[in-house]
Formats: sequence, C-alpha cells, structure tokens
Amino acid sequence: MREQDDRGRTPSSPTGRIPQWVHDEMAQALAPPDPWRSWSPREPRRRKRRNWSTIGGAALVVCIVGLGLVGAHFGVLPGGASVAGASPAPAMPSPGGNSSDDPLGTPMTPPAGGGSYAFVQHQDDGVTPVAYDPCRPVHYVVRPDNAPPGGETVIQSAVARMSQVTGLQFVDDGATDEDPTGQREAFQPDRYGDRWAPVLISWETVTEQPDFAADVAGLGGSQAVSAGDGPHVYVTGTVELDAADLTDFMTWPNGAAIARAIVLHELGHVVGLDHVVDPQQLMYASTSDVLDFAGGDLTGLAQLGAGSCEPQL
Ligand SMILES: [Zn+2]
Repeated sequence: MREQDDRGRTPSSPTGRIPQWVHDEMAQALAPPDPWRSWSPREPRRRKRRNWSTIGGAALVVCIVGLGLVGAHFGVLPGGASVAGASPAPAMPSPGGNSSDDPLGTPMTPPAGGGSYAFVQHQDDGVTPVAYDPCRPVHYVVRPDNAPPGGETVIQSAVARMSQVTGLQFVDDGATDEDPTGQREAFQPDRYGDRWAPVLISWETVTEQPDFAADVAGLGGSQAVSAGDGPHVYVTGTVELDAADLTDFMTWPNGAAIARAIVLHELGHVVGLDHVVDPQQLMYASTSDVLDFAGGDLTGLAQLGAGSCEPQL
C-alpha cells in the first residue's frame, strides 16, 4: 500500500544528505527476524531524524522517535506462569486486569482519500499492526517536573484527540514522580500495583535526555508483549518531551497548537504509528504547519484502535 510506496524511496534531507535515522532504519530492516514465539522482550530501538522546517518564519527543528520496546527481561509460559525471571517477583500482572468483553470505544471513520501511514510493528502476518488492547483503558501518568505553563492542558487536549480518533479510552492517573529511564520496566508492582505500568509522559531536561541537545523535541514509543502464540500487544509506553523546546514554543503565537502537535505526534508513535515521508501527514518526522492528524494518519489510527482484545495479558 502507500506504506510500501513510501518505504521504497530513500528519504533524504533538504540538503540531499541521507539522515542517520534512515541508515538506522535500513539496518533494522535488514536485521534477522525475532525468533521468539512466546513473550518477546525486544531490544531498544531508537531512530533519529534531524530536519528543519519553518513555522511562522522561524527555523525550528524537531521530532524523533524513540521506541521503548524494552524493559521486560523475562518470559512467560503460554498458560501465563512466569518463568526465568531475574528476580523471584512475578514478571507480569495478573492477566486480564480491567479488561472488558468488548472494545471500550470505536475508532473514528477515516476520511475518504486516505494518505500515507505506516506502522511501527506488525504481527507475524506482516500486515496486522501491533496495537493496544481496545478492551481495556490505556492508563497514563504525567511527571510534571519542568512542565511549561499550559503544558498540562496541551497534554490533556492531545490525549483527548487521540482517544477520539482511535476509540482507545485513555485514563489520567494523575501525576507521578517516576523518572523516565531507557530501560523502563513494563510491570512495576511496587509503584503501580498489580497491572501494567501506565504510559509515562514526562518533560525532560537535556541532562536527562541527551538527544534533546540535538534537533529533537520529543520521543515516543511503546512496549509490546505477547502470551504464547498470541498476538503482540502494547501494554505501556513513554512520551518524552523536550522541556526547554516546548517551553519556548509555548511563548510563540499559536505556540500551544505547535506543542500539542508535537505531543500528538509522539502519542501517534505510542499507539503504533511510524514516520512517513509525506510532509502533509502529522507523522512526518519533523515539524511543519500540519498541526493535527491528516488523512493518512487517521487511516492508520483507525486500524490501531481496532486491535484484538487479549485478556490473557
Ligand atoms: Zn516522530
């Protein structure tokens, strides 16, 4: 589909230089397939893109994807019993927590005409995207440290929009003092109880996230797990926001909309969208004057909101 059309071309920057993230992604594409059939902890995967675009006459740079597809260094038998954990503690929460029999919402019908979209990961059929379980809420917490004035409102607005277009029901679990790390555990019973850890949204300094010293305003991604031969399902994720960049944007005319677009883009990665080369889509890898999801984005998001319910996880 469009996705393959996009991937058939080698993206390059306006200068004609092939950015490093392209090399990174090509290297990933050539990597051998994941041999795991049971729970599938994956190695961290980070991609970068630096690019410049113009908003309101000022050059600014943004966006990156960081996929936190890690943290779960354990395995689970098809029946759900934990094995091979580094510690004797349970490696996953009790299955089916907070799960309903039916999807909690319905994805928005995408506009006719569509557009480019791509998924971060696919199931073994190579077609079906890895997605969150629509039969349970997607909980999230915000670490408020370093937040710009108005930042919380921006997050709430972006989450509401994501919920509207995917049908996924996001639940605000409030503030957290959990600090983002590169090896975040998907199950943190001491902090969050007997459930998957909520999605963590944080405003970070350059000290915390060295990528933000470069032309990057945000990172987003999720962790997928599977039980036995079942499909991979996202169970938690992270959004990392460059506190300095977004604090600056928020002072611009229309700055809140720009910041919201960045959060939306990163949430797009969280629910499973990858970058596309079409600058008319919000999932284009750098900022532009596109401030909301476009036709291709919405087409992909509708599929990501219609994943399978997996109560065994
Ligand atoms: Zn991105």
